[in-house]
Amino acid sequence: MDIKKIIRKSCIGFEPYVAGKPVETLKRELGIKNIVKLASNENPLGPSPKAIKAIKDNLNKIFFYPDSNSYELKKALSERYRLPVGNIFTGAGGDEIIELVAKLFFNSSDEIVISKHAFIRYAMAVQLMGSKAVIVPMKDGYSHDLKAMFKAVTPKTKAVFITNPNNPTGTYNTKAELSAFLKALPKNSNGVKPLVILDEAYFEYAKLKKDYPDGLEFLKDNPNLIVFRTFSKVYALAGLRVGYGFANEVVVDFIERTRPPFNVNLLAQAAAVASIKDGAQVKKGQTLAKKEKEYLYKEFKKLGVKYLDSAANFILFNSSPLKGKELFAKMLGEGVITRAMDEYELSSWVRVTVGLHKENELFVKKLKKIMGK
Ligand SMILES: *Cc1c(COP(=O)(O)O)cnc(C)c1O
Repeated sequence: MDIKKIIRKSCIGFEPYVAGKPVETLKRELGIKNIVKLASNENPLGPSPKAIKAIKDNLNKIFFYPDSNSYELKKALSERYRLPVGNIFTGAGGDEIIELVAKLFFNSSDEIVISKHAFIRYAMAVQLMGSKAVIVPMKDGYSHDLKAMFKAVTPKTKAVFITNPNNPTGTYNTKAELSAFLKALPKNSNGVKPLVILDEAYFEYAKLKKDYPDGLEFLKDNPNLIVFRTFSKVYALAGLRVGYGFANEVVVDFIERTRPPFNVNLLAQAAAVASIKDGAQVKKGQTLAKKEKEYLYKEFKKLGVKYLDSAANFILFNSSPLKGKELFAKMLGEGVITRAMDEYELSSWVRVTVGLHKENELFVKKLKKIMGK
């Protein structure tokens, strides 16, 4: 019996997602103890002590279903970002939010505009829905070319994805660029502009740049805008899977109707609420990333390794003369987990997450060894 015959056409061509290798997996494979994971842009400082406490305090409640409406979490987000609860939704990570939006809006006849080298999960959501991804080359090589993306919009365009800052390049679009893009977008024949789905997973890191735009400022004038962020990055709750989005109340209403009712688990909600209230934790993460990026840039320069300036907590660097895959494999052998970028069509690049200073030092030491310097 050929079960493949009944799998949806749009799912048949799916390639497995390449996730950052977990530390335990590599320990098993190599039998070495000292392993550093710099692969998935987690915050190495770990979660807020307040989040840990909230998790412990809620452990005995996990026999209950979580609050389907994430009431406390939305309330905390509403207070923190000064937006009504009706403009806020939550998901099991930014990752699920991408899918919730795709499932609500994307038809097979729709075109979705995405930048080349942008976060890969958008193209996967587009493929899942059987829609058409329109891929626009980057500007100066490695940042979203919003002018070219604007030109790629047609009457069939249902949505445009913008990753700001982008993963894996670390580049960002300025306030002026984003503002001009949003203004210029034309309405379709139905009187509605294409959706702009703005991924701000690294918002807290990027906002240290003066001309970096806060997507929330554009919500009022742009009912077609959906902004989302996550607790996985600076808040260091990646393992709990919780993200949040902001949009027009009609969009939020329909996301609420169509999402799985218990998508954000009880411990994740409790930890997220506690995390929002711990500004000191965010500050520590921002400061570490800023300082350690400077250290890594300096070391890359000394080694003559080309890299891209990053607004986030990771750096994309050129692996030449090695292929990214080869450098990644050699690094693995040394106990340092990075990420090769083949699925991003960046086969001579490797992405490294900014770790603790001693982790970054180890990475640099191994890089020197691998590069023969
Ligand atoms: C990490 C990341 C996300 C979301 O991650 P979740 O863990 O699912 O919240 C979304 N977009 C980008 C660009 C990311 O790097």
